[in-house]
Amino acid sequence: MQSALTIAGYDPSSGAGVTADLMVFAAHGLFGTSCITNLTVQSTIGVLETHPVPDETVRATLEHLYADLPAKGIKIGMLGTASVVAAVADFLAQLRSSGERIPVVLDPVVRSSSGRDLLDVDGITLLRERLLPLVDWITPNLDELALLSGVPVNHRDDLPEAARALQQGYAGLNVFATGGHLERPDDYLLTGSGEEHWFEGERVVTRSTHGTGCALSSALLSRLVLGDGAYPAALAAKGYVAEAIRTASPLGHGRGPLNHLWPLRRGLMSMPE
Ligand code: PLP
Repeated sequence: MQSALTIAGYDPSSGAGVTADLMVFAAHGLFGTSCITNLTVQSTIGVLETHPVPDETVRATLEHLYADLPAKGIKIGMLGTASVVAAVADFLAQLRSSGERIPVVLDPVVRSSSGRDLLDVDGITLLRERLLPLVDWITPNLDELALLSGVPVNHRDDLPEAARALQQGYAGLNVFATGGHLERPDDYLLTGSGEEHWFEGERVVTRSTHGTGCALSSALLSRLVLGDGAYPAALAAKGYVAEAIRTASPLGHGRGPLNHLWPLRRGLMSMPE
């Protein structure tokens, strides 16, 4: 069985963060391992507190995991602080210098949709300087794309210019920008080799959207681990998330989680009694 690693925060409500990522890996038939970067106190209603894990613990976790259960791909989510960004960047730099070419997807989590900062200012600087050169993919939402590219993103037509600006300086970086909050909620892919693809979005009226970005990046990483190329992986990841939103039951009192059990339910239905 192939394994995938998530390096992200812990959301006890399992809408976002490592527990959600592990469900996405399982839904793709992958064995998931995890390194928790921050504990959060949150429910579907919002994030109340964040507590970074000491960077020595993050370093030790990554080192020991890699020595024992080497992953075939890595997804990076919430990092919280500059010292955690540095710990993850050091680990990836070591991995790359050993010749390891496994896919690495970065979901540049800066703020929760409930409005809480999930990465400090020094962390954003370090993410640009140290982490971005080491990853293959980035999956920014509109705000993250505008912040990291320096190009304002208000309309669908702003996505290509902002994606190109973000790609500059990071040779071969694949940018999969999600337009979920746009009037036309289309996503845009600029591959590392310069190919462009649009993915038409469908507006679904639902409050089950907590952790959508986490799910997209984990589904993308899963498809890359399973051997898909850039465009098929992005297409399949988008399809996975759309179905997980469409089939979700409204849990909790706020923005509820997606339904990561849908592939399992389909499989169970086809199992003999
Ligand atoms: N990662 C973690 C660990 C989180 O706690 C959150 C939470 O809010 C997110 C990511 C971002 O998820 P969302 O954009 O759905 O708020």
